Amino acid sequence: MYDYDLLVVGSANADLVIGVERRPGAGETVLGSDLAVHPGGKGANQAVAAARLGARTALLARVGDDGNGRLLLDSLREAGVDTSGVLVGGAPTGVALITVDPSGDNSIVVSPGANGRLTPEDVRAADPLLGRSRVVSAQLEIPLETVVEVVRRLPEGTRFVLNPSPPRELPGEVLAACDPLIVNEHEARVIAGGELAGSPEDWARALLALGPRSVVVTLGAEGALIATAEGTARVAALKVEAVDTTGAGDAFTAALAWRLGAGEAPAVAAAYAARVGAAAVTRAGAQVSFPTADEVAALEG
Ligand code: ADP
Repeated sequence: MYDYDLLVVGSANADLVIGVERRPGAGETVLGSDLAVHPGGKGANQAVAAARLGARTALLARVGDDGNGRLLLDSLREAGVDTSGVLVGGAPTGVALITVDPSGDNSIVVSPGANGRLTPEDVRAADPLLGRSRVVSAQLEIPLETVVEVVRRLPEGTRFVLNPSPPRELPGEVLAACDPLIVNEHEARVIAGGELAGSPEDWARALLALGPRSVVVTLGAEGALIATAEGTARVAALKVEAVDTTGAGDAFTAALAWRLGAGEAPAVAAAYAARVGAAAVTRAGAQVSFPTADEVAALEG
């Protein structure tokens, strides 16, 4: 009955990365490595991660009519994402300017560009896409009013999954739609209004009290925690050699959204998502590091 297992509504960015000996201070110029340009943005990352696992995936997003936009569309299509909902034009493609020093510390400037022009009107025009999708997932690299419109237009029975990144306090109607709300510690703190006391179980219960039907807290190498009105459960992380954690949260979220939509129990779906997140950290990069279903199955542990 559904054409898509997952519709991602979110951002698409070109990540422009330069390695430097040390990051420049105000008024300073430093020379760096050759420029590397990678397809990124949380929306595009989630869509690529889900499609690579085998989920029938579409993306509602906006890119510029420029080379970076074409880079993103190519990466999405190569992964098998349906890009009929990717709008082109209105502003340059979103860009993240990233400098990385030898210790791995980075400085990032983001120009939201076309992501900031994905409007509630665009969501209304995408009604047919929403109606054909079993699960809809969003993040916060697009205007909040656009995410609010998604929640308002969700067809009956469609699951909504939100990773509120970058985090901000959320209106009650958005929180109430989340099943689950997926947060790391930093995001949990901001959503909770700045205060987090006790254990991750306590954080999850505090977030549940704000209205979501379920909450997942990701804990990096410690795995994740899933909380519903029935109680909380831990999901162990796989022991892997972490090379680059960029995009692990996006891969985890995409996998979890897909498996929940397929009807798996939350703890089973989260355990699968943890395997996908673990696989993603064993390779450098974001989209290029996301595993296929066969690669996830082949992971030990
Ligand atoms: P975010 O990038 O949003 O902060 P996390 O770093 O918590 O998200 O990663 C998401 C998930 O990916 C974790 O819940 C975990 O299952 C998996 N993961 C992340 N880092 C590691 C790691 N070093 N080893 C094993 N699994 C990891």
